[in-house]
Amino acid sequence: MDNGLTHSENSELISRDSLEPSADQFDELMQASMKYATRFLEEITEAKAYRGVHNSAEVIAGLPIMEHGRDYQTILDVLKIALEGAGINAASPHHMGYVPGGGIVTSALGDFLAALGNEYAGLSFASPGGVAIENAVLHWLKVLLDFPKEGVGNLTSGGSIATLIAVVAARHHHSVTPENIRKKVVYSTSQLHHCVHKSLRIAGLDFCTFRSIPMEEDFTLSLTQLRSQIEQDHASGLEPFMVLASAGSTDVGAIDPLLEIATIAKEYRCWFHVDAAFGGFFKLVPELSDHFNGIGLADSVVIDPHKGLFLAYGSGAVLVRHKEAALQAFEYRAHYMQDAITSFDHPDPADLSPELTKHFRGLRMWLSLQYFGVAPFRQVLTEKLELTRYFYRKVQSMGFVVGPDPMLTAVIFRWSHRNSPEEDNNINRQILHAIQKDGRVYLSSTSIEGVFWLRICILVFRTHQLHVDLLLDILEKSLETKKDHQATPDDLSPN
Ligand SMILES: *Cc1c(COP(=O)(O)O)cnc(C)c1O
Repeated sequence: MDNGLTHSENSELISRDSLEPSADQFDELMQASMKYATRFLEEITEAKAYRGVHNSAEVIAGLPIMEHGRDYQTILDVLKIALEGAGINAASPHHMGYVPGGGIVTSALGDFLAALGNEYAGLSFASPGGVAIENAVLHWLKVLLDFPKEGVGNLTSGGSIATLIAVVAARHHHSVTPENIRKKVVYSTSQLHHCVHKSLRIAGLDFCTFRSIPMEEDFTLSLTQLRSQIEQDHASGLEPFMVLASAGSTDVGAIDPLLEIATIAKEYRCWFHVDAAFGGFFKLVPELSDHFNGIGLADSVVIDPHKGLFLAYGSGAVLVRHKEAALQAFEYRAHYMQDAITSFDHPDPADLSPELTKHFRGLRMWLSLQYFGVAPFRQVLTEKLELTRYFYRKVQSMGFVVGPDPMLTAVIFRWSHRNSPEEDNNINRQILHAIQKDGRVYLSSTSIEGVFWLRICILVFRTHQLHVDLLLDILEKSLETKKDHQATPDDLSPN
């Protein structure tokens, strides 16, 4: 059979007769992995943030899975090419697209140790220590977000699954049934993250009526509009059911007026959910804490440690105020689980999650918080905020039109000195493509009511002023080429 042989496929196959490496072999694996990691970290600040679309799939296909194993170094060599040769370099200080994450090393070490011991952290009888670690970080999150300690929480793979848990708990708490669902009304702005809509749909709640509440100029939810819409719905016999707020919208980082929304939600007995996936950890920054007033009054909150806490992807969390709602939503009984007695007072992670066998994801977070303490996280988040404000000022002085004053670390901006909206959209699209093609810095874009915006989000812990300055330089060049040579920004390539 022709597998499209490559040099790596010709590497010698090694017959290993056990899954347990000898002490020497283990040492060799660790040394090689460590060398890989050290090189990766040495190169990360210089490497391109975006490496285009390349032949990663072919590279991986060049190393088919065989009956016998391979030399570890060969595997790592292929891995390096496949991963580092293409796509977004998510750990790069120059990654400023979407909502970037982190990749602090303690997160990697936590995963390594979690996988090594293979603790089953879903049930406390199986891993009292693992569950205690999960509960310890959830407790820390409750304190951070002013959440009552009677509330429950769960660590998830990310904000999306965390949101699903919140939404299903809301459905139970409000006894939404096929009979009454068409009377139930859900409220949010159009800036709500799409994962919430996805969760509503998965939970069968897309049969509810959905109200998109107009926003103020700073992209936050309009309280008067919310109140009047709820009153109108209430008066016409509908049942206001859930109010969804953002604490850090994806497009511009807007934080809705949480305290006031909480008051309205309570008045109309609505479930109040806060999506703090992006913004939640900025509550650690003292000057921002006022923006988060009222977050602790929410019925559920979602927060993403793989964003604002710089853990590797695969870390979300949800807090739910009503324990019984969260428990009912995920209750299960199985005769083969009869040893796993859980109590209402001390629910286990698997009792509050669609997952049974769970990744021991508490360890990466606990290890990181234990090792660093909270102070460096606070400091790094403050720096990102300052960098964002710096960028916001600079980009305006270059003649770009900007979106609202950044509350968090996202900025939308665009070049808009032509006449037709089409032309304006095109020129910004060209600037984006040129920057992505250049690859040194990665940023993304968004569309708001048909208007194309360039967008940055500064949330990689490694990003400092020199990295933002490089982006400003690149942007400046894109404009120069446009002005001086009447050329498209495509010409700004450094080569
Ligand atoms: C990232 C994000 C989500 C989705 O979380 P995932 O971790 O990607 O599943 C939801 N809401 C907001 C505001 C986000 O930034």
